[in-house]
Parts: sequence; C-alpha cells; structure tokens
Amino acid sequence: MTMPTSKSSISISRKRWKNYVNDQSADPLRFSKPKSLSELREILEEAGKLRLKVKAIGSGHSSSDIAISRDWMIDTHGLVQVFDNLQLDLNVSADNLFFVECGIRIRDVNRELEKLGKALINMGAFDGQTIAGVISTSTHGSGIMLGAFPDYLRSIFLLAEDGTLHQIERSPGKGISKGPARIKEAGQINFIQNDDYFFSAGVSMGCLGIIYAVVIEVTNKYMLEETRHFSKWSKVKKELQEGNILLDKRHYEVLVSPYFFNGNDHKCLVTERIISHREYKSPLIPRGHRKILPELFVRIVPTFLIDAAIRFLINHFPKIIPSFVQTEINTLTDKGYIDKSYKVLNLGKDNNLAAYATEIALPEKRYLDAVEEIIRIVNKSVDEGRQYLTAPFSLRFVKCSPFYLSMQYGNTDEFVCMIEFPTVSKTIGGLELLARIEDALYRFGGIPHWGQINHVGGQGQSSVEKLYPRFNDWMRIYKILAPEGRFENDFTHRCGISHFHDLK
Ligand SMILES: Cc1cc2nc3c(=O)[nH]c(=O)nc-3n(C[C@H](O)[C@H](O)[C@H](O)COP(=O)(O)OP(=O)(O)OC[C@H]3O[C@@H](n4cnc5c(N)ncnc54)[C@H](O)[C@@H]3O)c2cc1C
Repeated sequence: MTMPTSKSSISISRKRWKNYVNDQSADPLRFSKPKSLSELREILEEAGKLRLKVKAIGSGHSSSDIAISRDWMIDTHGLVQVFDNLQLDLNVSADNLFFVECGIRIRDVNRELEKLGKALINMGAFDGQTIAGVISTSTHGSGIMLGAFPDYLRSIFLLAEDGTLHQIERSPGKGISKGPARIKEAGQINFIQNDDYFFSAGVSMGCLGIIYAVVIEVTNKYMLEETRHFSKWSKVKKELQEGNILLDKRHYEVLVSPYFFNGNDHKCLVTERIISHREYKSPLIPRGHRKILPELFVRIVPTFLIDAAIRFLINHFPKIIPSFVQTEINTLTDKGYIDKSYKVLNLGKDNNLAAYATEIALPEKRYLDAVEEIIRIVNKSVDEGRQYLTAPFSLRFVKCSPFYLSMQYGNTDEFVCMIEFPTVSKTIGGLELLARIEDALYRFGGIPHWGQINHVGGQGQSSVEKLYPRFNDWMRIYKILAPEGRFENDFTHRCGISHFHDLK
C-alpha cells in the first residue's frame, strides 16, 4: 500500500527494501525517492521535526548493513542530472571534469562520458552502483598507480542535516574552484576548502550528510587489452616478490584457489590489462572475460538456474568444491580481449550470480604472508568442519588513498592488496568461514571493505579507532557537520561511530 504523507507526496510507508544480493532488508517508517534538491531538503526538514534518522541509499550493492535504516530511507536514483561545467567557478581547466548528481549509476556515467569522448580513469568490476555509493565506501578496481573511486573526487556537494549545502574541496591552492558553484535551485552554497573536511566527507558511508552532487576527474576515452592466463601460486608469489610486475601492467589481478593441486601448489588465474592503441573492430559475437563456450553458456542459460544448480551441488556434495573452483579458473583463461575501457573493466555476467563477499585491504608488506594464512585457515576449516570457500579468492592491487576512512588509507606512494572472498549465497558455513578469515587478517593489519560483509566495531582489533589512524580527525568533522547524528543507523552503532544515540 502506498500512502503519501508529506506535502510533496515524496514519502511512502510500508515499503520493504532489500539490497542487491538479498542479504539485507529493512521496513523503514518512511521511504522516499526525491527528484530534486528541494525535495531532498524537504525530507531533511521533516525528518528534523519528527526527530527521525535518515539514510541515503544508492543501488543497494553493499552486502553489509551500511545502507539500512529503521526510520527514513532515501532512494537517490531520481537524482541523475549532469551539470554543465560552466556552473562551476573553476581555477583549473574544465576539460577533464564531470559534474553530476549523486544517484547516477556508473553505467550511465560511462554512457554520458562516452558522448563527450571521455571515460572514467578507473572503476571496479561492476557498473550498477551509484556514483555517491562507490565514493562513500571507497569502491576500487585495480592498479597500483590508480586510486579507488574517491581519489578522483574533486568537489563534493554535501547536504547537511540543517539543510545547508556545503561545497567541499581540498585546501586553498589544491582545490579546483575559486568560489561556490552556481546551481540555480541551491540558493546560497557554503564553500569550504579544507583538507580535513574533504578527506572526511569523501568516504563517510552516508554519515556526514547526503551527497547531492560531485565533480570527478575523468580522462580521454581509451581502449584496454586484457590477457588472462593460468599460473600457480608459487610462481605468482615469486613474481610479486620481485616486484616489477605490478608496475609493468596498468592492471594486474590474481585469482587463487585455496585448494591444493599437484602436491603443494594452488591454481591461479592472472589477469593483466594494458592500454591498447590497436584499431578496434566490434566483434560479431560480443566478447567477455572467458573462453568462448563458457561465455556463451553464461549468456544463454538463465542466471537463476545456474545459481540454483551451483547451490544444490555445493551444499549436497561439498567435496566437489575444490574441483569446481579449479574448473572456474580454467574457463576464465583468455587473451586478446580488446574493448572500450569500461567494458573490459566490468566483470560482466558473473556480477549477476547470487553471491556475497568479504574483502580485506592488506598492507604492501604483509599481504603475501596473509595469503599463506588464508590457505591454511580454509584447509583447516575443510578438515575440521567441511566448511569451504566456494570460489577462488582475488588479489587486486590499489594505490593508497588520502581519504581518512578509506580502507586503502595510507601514504600515496604505497599500495594495498585488496583480497576478496566471494561466496555463493546460502552456502552452508559460508558466513562462518568469512568471519574466521576476517578475524585472522586483522593480525596482518587488514581493514575490511565497508560495503562488503564485515564485523568492524567493538573494542578490540576491529575497532574503527585502531583500524584508521585519522579516525579522530574524521570524527571531529562528523560532529561539526552532523551534530544531531541525523544519518546514524544500526551500522554506525555497531561500528562505534555513532555520537548521538538518543534522538527519540
Ligand atoms: C556485483 C557487485 C560488484 C561489486 N564490485 C566491487 C568492486 O569491484 N570493487 C569494490 O570495491 N566494491 C565492489 N562492490 C561493492 C560496491 O561497490 C559498494 O558496496 C558500493 O558502495 C555500492 O554502491 P551503491 O550505489 O549500491 O551504494 P549503497 O550500497 O546503496 O550504499 C553504500 C553507502 O553509500 C551511502 N550513500 C549512497 N548514496 C549516498 C548519498 N547520495 N549520500 C550519502 N551517502 C550515500 C549509503 O548510505 C551507504 O552508507 C560490488 C558489489 C556488487 C553487488
């Protein structure tokens, strides 16, 4: 039942919201899908009067509880306007800047940029998320010279709980603007150029305010060539220890099977991508990331059937899982896949399978030891309780980020290795094994991805204060911009970052 309750009829009640992988849901008191800044402001004003918490949501692609609220959830997909850069008062060239509202999906960003002859400098393995969603959780792709999404942020328009629209940039001399932008509907904009504000507001998991719009840096459109080959962990480890491989390729990623083959080794799939200057001809049969027959199979057979078959097999015959994981790796080898950058960076059909993941950022100096520990834990769990990892785990190397609550936070001359553990939904023992791995990786300096399943919080090794050296600076800005804690939720409570629990 839909019941308009606010003056602009933008709010409904009795709506159940579920995230993309169906592992998080909420029945909030109110649910809105605003289409303008004025409507957003109206919601905040009413929430303030009713003393309700508010949470902006993107595409719900986070598997963690980060986006849910019991009070008022705001679907941002109605906010997709692309602005003219002339509306910015710039002190740099407007050529490689893209100014857009928060709710646009990455796939639509790619489409809009292509019309302009431009492209994202980097992206993750999927394009269904919103631009504000990927910035808020520090979503990343790969490349040690390339940062995660927030690192391309140049200006952020944050709507605070009191209705003020702040335009936040780096400190004077490093920011891109001379003064506030001219957005007709916005009225007066509070212009802030301050590194503490900027590096706090970018990755803030929706806590500091509602990101209304962003300006990101982009580049001229380009082609990528992808090669995927089979290898083994002993060889890959040696190449990584020698070091140059990560500098030679724009993108270098590895999938590792935790299970033993040929005695003491582990199957791996190495993916390398470089910029291609070869002439591009659109192939008759669209290419994907794997051998042609498996690619046709996943394109033709409905995803729900593949999901059901895989789930049935792994839960009833868990012993097949190691062979299943190795077969998965074999089907993915491929070479000479050239296409537009955003097509090659997108993993494609695999993103539709019902799966969730835990993902941990490991420091440059510890990740190789962490891999050995992961292999040990998985095999111990198999031996002791038949708990299996149902997919290979992946290593993606990402430049460190200056954003205070980014999982990749660190000196920007260094990199982190993001290790992801995708798991088929409803795998027996799947969540328990992920939690065991997460616990172990804290000892290696690991920091869990905000948007993937995690247990960050509490007093111990997983406390936000211990994980993030600039947490206190972030908290200071948080209290200034959101003094009433309007954007807190159960996630901020369990993480220990709520500062104002008792609104009601
Ligand atoms: C198939 C799939 C593939 C993925 N691939 C990758 C990958 O390659 N790399 C990676 O790092 N992650 C990946 N992820 C994780 C995903 O990118 C992140 O969880 C991302 O944050 C989801 O974006 P979203 O738009 O769905 O945001 P949501 O999940 O809806 O929200 C995430 C957070 O952003 C906040 N938020 C959203 N919009 C706003 C706004 N306008 N203002 C303030 N706060 C806001 C929400 O409150 C919440 O805290 C993947 C997830 C899936 C399901």
